[in-house]
Amino acid sequence: GDEDLDSVTPPLPSISLFRTERRWGDTTSYAGKKKLQSWFQLPNGNWELGKILSASGTETVISLPNEKVLKAKTEDLVPANPDILDGVDDLMQLSYLNEPSVLYNLQYRYNQDMIYTKAGPVLVAINPFKKVSLYGNEYIEAYKRKAVESPHVYAITDTAIREMVRDEVNQSIIISGESGAGKTETAKIAMQYLAALGGGSGIEHEILKTNPILEAFGNAKTLRNDNSSRFGKLIEIHFSETGKISGANIQTFLLEKSRVVQCTEGERSYHIFYQLCAGAPPALRDMLNLKSADEYKYLQQSNCYSITGVNDAEEFRVVKEALDVVHINEEDQESVFAMLAAVLWLGNISFTVIDNENHVEAMADEGLFNAAKLVGCSLEELQLALSTRKMRVGNDNIVQKLTLSQAVDTRDALAKSIYACLFEWLVEQINKSLAVGKRCTGRSISILDIYGFESFDRNSFEQFCINYANERLQQHFNRHLFKLEQEEYIQDGIDWTKVEFEDNQHCLSLFEKRPLGLLSLLDEESTFPNGSDLTFANKLKQHLSSNSCFRGERDKAFTVSHYAGEVTYNTTGFLEKNRDLLHLDSIQLLSSCSCHLPQIFASNMLNQSEKPLVGPLYKLGGVDSQKLSVATKFKGQLFLLMKRLENTTPHFIRCIKPNNIQSPGLYEQGLVLQQLRCCGVLEVVRISRSGFPTRMSHQKFARRYGFLLLENVASQDPLSVSVAILNQFNILPEMYQVGYTKLFFRTGQIGVLEDTRNRT
Ligand code: ATP
Ligand code: MG
Repeated sequence: GDEDLDSVTPPLPSISLFRTERRWGDTTSYAGKKKLQSWFQLPNGNWELGKILSASGTETVISLPNEKVLKAKTEDLVPANPDILDGVDDLMQLSYLNEPSVLYNLQYRYNQDMIYTKAGPVLVAINPFKKVSLYGNEYIEAYKRKAVESPHVYAITDTAIREMVRDEVNQSIIISGESGAGKTETAKIAMQYLAALGGGSGIEHEILKTNPILEAFGNAKTLRNDNSSRFGKLIEIHFSETGKISGANIQTFLLEKSRVVQCTEGERSYHIFYQLCAGAPPALRDMLNLKSADEYKYLQQSNCYSITGVNDAEEFRVVKEALDVVHINEEDQESVFAMLAAVLWLGNISFTVIDNENHVEAMADEGLFNAAKLVGCSLEELQLALSTRKMRVGNDNIVQKLTLSQAVDTRDALAKSIYACLFEWLVEQINKSLAVGKRCTGRSISILDIYGFESFDRNSFEQFCINYANERLQQHFNRHLFKLEQEEYIQDGIDWTKVEFEDNQHCLSLFEKRPLGLLSLLDEESTFPNGSDLTFANKLKQHLSSNSCFRGERDKAFTVSHYAGEVTYNTTGFLEKNRDLLHLDSIQLLSSCSCHLPQIFASNMLNQSEKPLVGPLYKLGGVDSQKLSVATKFKGQLFLLMKRLENTTPHFIRCIKPNNIQSPGLYEQGLVLQQLRCCGVLEVVRISRSGFPTRMSHQKFARRYGFLLLENVASQDPLSVSVAILNQFNILPEMYQVGYTKLFFRTGQIGVLEDTRNRT
């Protein structure tokens, strides 16, 4: 009979195939009980829900939904939750918190267009890849009134606003996830909510209009995402003391410049190029000698000109209108478009060999003619800048002729640098337009939309920087959710069995240690005239092999053990990308030309030239040209970012991409699981649920709820008042702990008090 089966069945082994399962520790009582549901893993790796028919020793018989009955090793089964818990909106409510249960719960909700789920304090957002009716004024109203409780970006944003006002602390919403997971859309949804609640001054319209502008200039179609952001972004939205939006500031990170001059088959360069070619009105076309996108070499190479469902000409009008809104005047707009056209025409310049040493000269073709005209210099000046290089040898200044590949590199460097400066200039103008009044002393909410961890078949300098940034952000996440949490318990004398958590400090040190870390060694090698990608790789192997996060690979490669997994980087191009040189000849050209360039580039260009050497040649406008390496500049930006974030209360949103083909309705378990592991969602749920996530100081608790007490307690100390409140509201002893300075509550406990308070 049934009882027999139960009594002979040994408990499920606590060690399973899945690393997190090992530590849930809630499987023993489950013990393969008959009729209970259990997860069974199919050969393709997906999990199938089965019912246990019988169990004996190491073997269990289960029935699967397709009427199949099969025997499985008991140790391969993972307990499933009762049906009543299907689709709970916080993973913390699950009785069995194993990977298949989490995956199933998310999928269950996803299939009903409930794309948001809480994982304790973290919001998980699964990209629907279609329009879902969850947004707009009605929803915003409902979340504002707290009439709905389902997890949502609106709800997180609402919490951020409330905590900003309540605690008088700046807030941040940190959005992460892989390319195509939905970070940028999520950021826009959060901005929408902020604008709706904090609007009124009119500046919120301007803030929203920065999105189409930055997307046009900083997003592109990639193989992973038709609208992929090729830069990181932090937007800090300021509020006045009355809770109205008073201004904003945008900081951008690491724009992918290389895309301007080369991109892979099937991808596109930045949207704005195609929008300009398709949407420029006749007068502007004439002025820029504009042709259609497929006439430009830079745009030809990837053989992709359009995006399904996108009308570039229409987008151009949207961008132009947005530029008007952020107060970029007609004249400046024309200069921007002229610079874009100049970049395109530069790409069409070709070179001919002029001597038997393979030196070349830029041909006086349509490209050269138009580029010179748009840049505002003579044809000869541009020709010279692209075909020769002034050098200092000993005490002499000499002019060196360039070979074809040198000339092409010089031309491309010029194009990239014009584009990058243009981008920075735009951000600067936007910031001027959104600037907060000096006397405004209110608080802010920052939204961070930054590229997630990347691991491809071939990983280069870009992945190296991106993954370094993610390593930092992960530490921030860890620190916030784990370390601080634990420390706070211990500090307040709360009983807390120490939680094991993985710190990634070791990997960060591998990057940051001086002088023997990845970044330092990269910079050092970048300054050596004879340094090459190979000598760099060898130096890494020589100095870092003792670090457990580092492994040298064959040839020019090395592997780093990131928190999210191992990534092998190929050092090809590392030094050049890190140096990111623009030759002085190009700088001199740009600084003397008659277009808007000098004004646009004045500050930025100086930052981009070669390392200063002695001698008048290396002075420009009386200022020594200084140059930071790309990695060092990025590291500096990252430190500033972290410093800023550390002064905020963070709110985390983890975006998940359910499939790789940008298709609605397709949920690939393996892909989702890997992302959940990478971003620590599973760990968070476990820790939050087992702890006391809600906490409040005795004072605050007494102040906030004391007035609800039936007896007069005005004369009593905060702790006594707090205890009286706890008693009056029958909060069970196992649901809270009293610390030295704070009260700690299990999830959901404060809700009753808040409800009563709000009704009173
Ligand atoms: P990248 O790192 O490449 O910039 P990302 O994480 O910013 O990627 P998004 O550009 O935000 O990704 O999203 C990719 C696409 O997914 C969007 O263009 C949109 O089609 C779809 N998408 C994302 N979120 C939503 C949503 N909430 N509702 C509908 N569609 C969405
Ligand atoms: Mg994006």
